[in-house]
Amino acid sequence: MKIVNIDKDKLKELYIDKKLSSIKCAYILNCCIATVIKRLRIYNIPVRSISEANKGNVGYWTGKHLSKEHIKNSSEGLKGRVVWNKGFKGCQTHSEETKRKMSKSLNTWYKNNSEEMKRERIRGIINPSIETRKKLSEAKTGERSSQWKGGISPLNYEIRQSNEYNEWRNNVYQRDYWHCQICGKHCGNKDIIAHHIKSFSEYPNLRFKISNGITLCRNCHAKIHHHNGSFVSKGELAICL
Ligand SMILES: [Zn+2]
Ligand SMILES: [Zn+2]
Repeated sequence: MKIVNIDKDKLKELYIDKKLSSIKCAYILNCCIATVIKRLRIYNIPVRSISEANKGNVGYWTGKHLSKEHIKNSSEGLKGRVVWNKGFKGCQTHSEETKRKMSKSLNTWYKNNSEEMKRERIRGIINPSIETRKKLSEAKTGERSSQWKGGISPLNYEIRQSNEYNEWRNNVYQRDYWHCQICGKHCGNKDIIAHHIKSFSEYPNLRFKISNGITLCRNCHAKIHHHNGSFVSKGELAICL
């Protein structure tokens, strides 16, 4: 984490006099919320409890609107894309036959490749599903590879089970002190999510960058992913704190 010099008086003025939340202070001081909280402790400024902080508080997004240009850009970026959950109700399920095929091809891949290749696959450096996609699109005429989503989820599942991913998640939580960075709530085990600011699937090389993660509660996480009634998982979601 980079060391930020924060002036005690400036912090006091924002946090005590102006009664700004630690999130807003972090925003103004151009550092992360964890730094603000740490500095408050160092300077012996009493940190407000969550219930105190929430008193008369308005939500982070209240009164804030995405600029017209931003909406235009993101809707243009999403044009023509197939939403990942299109056609699925609830959880995505595969038929028994597909599951069997997927685990077979995964097993074969694992048997035939070195430890280094496995690690690279998890880090997103190599993506064997591209090859699978090619074969499938050749076999099924008219099916474009970009519409093929079936090869992705086993890999994602695999990554999300990996030690590296677990470590990344814990580091993100630790940096944010297990507090949702939108509503400021302290999150318990079942309510906490490490969200990728730049999307997991589109920026594989940022998957394990702590700076690309942010701690959110389930509620706020659902809110940022649902835009105009549909799930947004692509690109960069607009949260800058
Ligand atoms: Zn929240
Ligand atoms: Zn997310």
